[in-house]
Amino acid sequence: MSKLISKRSFLKGFAAAAAGAAAAPLVHAKPGAPLPQKWDREADVVILGYGGAGASAAITAKDAGADVVIFEKCPQGGGNTAVSSGGMMIPNNRERAIEYLRKTYDFANSEKDDELLTAFVDEAMKSKDFLLSLAPDQKVYIYGHAGFQSIPESDAIDKWRFRTPKGQKTRGGDM
Ligand SMILES: Cc1cc2nc3c(=O)[nH]c(=O)nc-3n(C[C@H](O)[C@H](O)[C@H](O)COP(=O)(O)OP(=O)(O)OC[C@H]3O[C@@H](n4cnc5c(N)ncnc54)[C@H](O)[C@@H]3O)c2cc1C
Repeated sequence: MSKLISKRSFLKGFAAAAAGAAAAPLVHAKPGAPLPQKWDREADVVILGYGGAGASAAITAKDAGADVVIFEKCPQGGGNTAVSSGGMMIPNNRERAIEYLRKTYDFANSEKDDELLTAFVDEAMKSKDFLLSLAPDQKVYIYGHAGFQSIPESDAIDKWRFRTPKGQKTRGGDM
């Protein structure tokens, strides 16, 4: 097991996992190998699981100057994220998106936490730039809006897809 050291390494590992390739910079214990009896390693941030959440957290921590170590139980990283459809809800208007999300809670008679909801919207609005900072050539495109279109302001959230569109063999290009 080892740490990952650069944004590019993270991404290559992720891409390799997504493509089903065996080689990834994520070093892991050999499948079936006994775990070490003693293992000393200190890190500022320890990440368990190299899926989307783990990779994002690791990259963010690394960018902030932290020493990061990742543990992944599978022979290659990626998790469910690597086999997902790559769809992301990204607000295009902060206030209207918050309003829409508040209404979905009301619609579902759910308890809502305004601070959490606002933080979610603020962070979600950064996600496209974050992903493109890792893969500037990747094609991303809008394919719809938030799911509950009968709820006002659903068009304040765009559905983005972050992957090569079907039938398009080459990656890259503009947005
Ligand atoms: C077919 C499919 C399509 C989907 N499409 C979409 C979509 O379009 N949009 C969307 O938002 N969501 C989609 N989802 C859901 C989305 O993929 C998941 O919600 C998301 O990937 C979860 O990310 P994660 O980082 O939490 O988990 P994962 O990506 O699953 O990563 C978890 C990682 O942790 C590792 N792990 C688990 N336990 C341990 C352990 N004890 N020690 C070390 N490592 C461990 C796993 O091996 C894995 O690599 C889809 C899911 C599937 C299956």
